[in-house]
Amino acid sequence: MTITAERVLQGDPLKIADRCDQCGAQAFVRVVFGRNRDLLFCGHHYQRHEPVLMARHPYVNVVDERHRINQKPSLSANAE
Ligand SMILES: [Zn+2]
Repeated sequence: MTITAERVLQGDPLKIADRCDQCGAQAFVRVVFGRNRDLLFCGHHYQRHEPVLMARHPYVNVVDERHRINQKPSLSANAE
């Protein structure tokens, strides 16, 4: 038996239920520091912290979905 549903953290699209670790607004940026270690930011807080984050952790993976900020959520955005 093979496990096929392995969670791929970096590739996970952000959902409406994902919230900024700073303020609780909807998160649009995920900064992945390693396995099971990530930070979520709203657009505002990512913009504020990006210079420091990138200076201290230049090799982190960043999933930036800020292009979706003003899009209407689809009805199936939180499906599954
Ligand atoms: Zn925030």
